[in-house]
Amino acid sequence: MSSEFDVIVAGAGPAGLSAACLLALDGRRVALVAKSRGEIADPRTVALMQPSMRLLMHLGIWPGQLKARTQPLLKLRLVDDTGSLFKAPAITFDPAEIGEDAFGWNFPLGLLIPALTARAISLGITLADADVTSVSTASDGVSVTTSAGERIAARVALAADGRNSLLRDAAGIKTNRWAYDQSALATSFEHTGAHDGISTEYHRAAGPFTTVPMPGLQSALVWLERPARAADLMALSDAELAAEIQINTHGELGRISNIGPRKLFPMNGLVARDFAKNRIILIGEAAHVVPPIGAQGLNMSLRDVAQAADLMMGEDDPGQALVLADYDAFRRRDVQPRQQAIDLMNRSLLSGYLALEGGRALGLSLISQFGPLRRAVMKYGLAPSFGLPRVMRKDQGGTPALILEANPDERRASSKYIG
Ligand SMILES: Cc1cc2nc3c(=O)[nH]c(=O)nc-3n(C[C@H](O)[C@H](O)[C@H](O)COP(=O)(O)OP(=O)(O)OC[C@H]3O[C@@H](n4cnc5c(N)ncnc54)[C@H](O)[C@@H]3O)c2cc1C
Repeated sequence: MSSEFDVIVAGAGPAGLSAACLLALDGRRVALVAKSRGEIADPRTVALMQPSMRLLMHLGIWPGQLKARTQPLLKLRLVDDTGSLFKAPAITFDPAEIGEDAFGWNFPLGLLIPALTARAISLGITLADADVTSVSTASDGVSVTTSAGERIAARVALAADGRNSLLRDAAGIKTNRWAYDQSALATSFEHTGAHDGISTEYHRAAGPFTTVPMPGLQSALVWLERPARAADLMALSDAELAAEIQINTHGELGRISNIGPRKLFPMNGLVARDFAKNRIILIGEAAHVVPPIGAQGLNMSLRDVAQAADLMMGEDDPGQALVLADYDAFRRRDVQPRQQAIDLMNRSLLSGYLALEGGRALGLSLISQFGPLRRAVMKYGLAPSFGLPRVMRKDQGGTPALILEANPDERRASSKYIG
């Protein structure tokens, strides 16, 4: 198969755009196939942890003009509002305990996506303003046809086309999917009290209610509720919703007003059974979907991106079997336990079983009391224990990393480590 490009990236969500930019910076010929969707009307903000921020810095979009419109996350607080017999103590995670001045930054998605799009254009990435409509894979490459009738060929394709990924199906990759009896209401609001850069996750019986600080006296809200109750909340007037938020924040942020646009997200989980196959690599929600608890979703996706770029580095054929096998092993090792931990935390709130509630309360008490355990939890929240890809590492010497160097032979040797 003759290839005009090294890599096709399908989908221009935050995962696909980041991947296209990173691979272009690595000198790859990239085709980004994504239909422009116009202005982003998405009330979500995303809390991006320090490793993700280092990737954005490497891509050249941070700090720049974004800094003034985003907010550092100075502390994270967990508050037990379940009303359970087993009440867990409140926990405050302070990044100073692990040598960081902030966990990360909170970005409006409506700022991040245009910034990444502008960067992709400035890097001269070939943009096909169309959807992928079909995919064909061969032993030496992959080609896609687009809704504009174009055919594009490359050595490898990154499936960044979201949870209903067409490329994932074309690769023959199956998924495990499940639904939670929850919806997430995302919005923002203003308040009279200072948030002090603290994000608070109030754990309630229907799921977490999380405030995430934004610049000034403003916060984002992610409120998980049973679907019927969430639909009722969507139907409230702004003043009524402000009153509900006031109750759930216990007045800790003062008086609530100026509710922003709202959107409801049904809560599902998904994990691909393979993370790469047949010259197709899954990144972002094409590979994994988790409920918004502990701000893990996009942070995991950006590690997908950085890991894929590392494994391709220095390879004449970036879609060869060894690259895909290593990618599958590394991402499986990061994504699966994290997804299970989020699932367990969520189900321990929803189940109503005393034993599970007791287990959760005990776990949180231990984390609150024992510094080493608390620090381990914080470090795990920021990065997998086996290390980070190249552009996400704090410094070349400081963070353990098993792979990564530009030399493919070194990487091959290290890939044996994870078998
Ligand atoms: C309420 C809420 C709060 C969240 N908060 C956080 C947080 O604080 N921190 C965090 O890390 N994560 C968070 N997340 C998760 C995060 O928002 C998602 O992981 C992320 O937005 C998904 O990005 P993506 O690029 O993988 O997928 P998407 O944004 O879904 O992008 C997929 C793209 O592919 C396109 N596409 C689809 N089919 C095709 C095709 N055939 N051809 C070409 N293109 C196609 C789509 O149009 C879309 O643009 C949150 C999620 C929710 C719901």
